Amino acid sequence: MSSGLNKKLWIIENQSERSKTAYAKLEPMLKAAGFIFDEADPELVVTIGGDGTLLSAMHQYEEQLDRIRFVGVHTGHLGFYTDFMADELEKLVEGLCHEKPEQAVRYPLLRVEVKHDGKTTLHYALNESILRRTSQTMVCNVHISDELFEKFRGDGLAISTPTGSTAYNKSIGGAVMHPQVEAMQLAEIASLNNIVFRTLSAPMIVAKKDSIRLCPEKADDYSLTIDQLNFHYEDVTSVDYSLDGASIAFANCAHTPFWERVRTAFIGDGVE
Ligand code: NAP
Ligand code: MN
Repeated sequence: MSSGLNKKLWIIENQSERSKTAYAKLEPMLKAAGFIFDEADPELVVTIGGDGTLLSAMHQYEEQLDRIRFVGVHTGHLGFYTDFMADELEKLVEGLCHEKPEQAVRYPLLRVEVKHDGKTTLHYALNESILRRTSQTMVCNVHISDELFEKFRGDGLAISTPTGSTAYNKSIGGAVMHPQVEAMQLAEIASLNNIVFRTLSAPMIVAKKDSIRLCPEKADDYSLTIDQLNFHYEDVTSVDYSLDGASIAFANCAHTPFWERVRTAFIGDGVE
């Protein structure tokens, strides 16, 4: 009989009743299987909720991502970062007993470096980072690897990871990308295009070897999102986006193929 003996694990659940119920079932099952509960230094983090719960957990453990493998349990419909439904807890425990660190599946994170007020702040996003202006048109030079590409005017720009391509990016007309394509995607939010102002007006897939730099015009009402987090910086001079090899690991147990997830989430089973 296999066991989770010596594997340090922590569970993060959201506040929904279904998540609390699933937590109450899962905790004793994992303890009985020999897992050690360790909030400070877990090697496995199980989230119960939705994709948003996984995003929050990733940011909570941002400094320890090189040592952690995540597993998501969904208490709604099946999500993108969640491999198990709440009625599959036995299968989850069995999977956690057998999974091995070297078989983990890795997804790239987006490096976001913000220069503001003479300071530099570094973030990592799992889905995307959006720069927008709240009250007026955002005017912003877009550079691809140090070359000026265009002057953007509009509401904002979203830069997404491959796994984030099915989230906000898809809502603004970006392409859905397979997570094994190591690239980031730049998509426009309501760009102004007319005889005077010109942007590409199409989502761009930018290779890992390249970087994206946004240099917004001086203003004090920019908002920068990192997944579900929102930051307000005064005097932003540039935001640099790149893929520097940082990644998040998912435990390899019952991993659903990406295109199957896309079909299940967006098309359903009604395809004839
Ligand atoms: P939320 O408002 O609950 O998220 C909006 C929806 O996006 C939820 O249904 C969420 O799934 C889903 N989602 C999250 N990551 C996804 C992914 N990689 N692929 C497909 N769907 C995904 O907020 P949240 O749960 O804190 O998640 C934050 C993310 O939501 C942001 O990073 C952004 O991408 C996305 N978002 C999208 C829009 C939009 O499309 N207009 C607006 C706001 C936020 P769950 O229900 O499983 O959490
Ligand atoms: Mn959510």
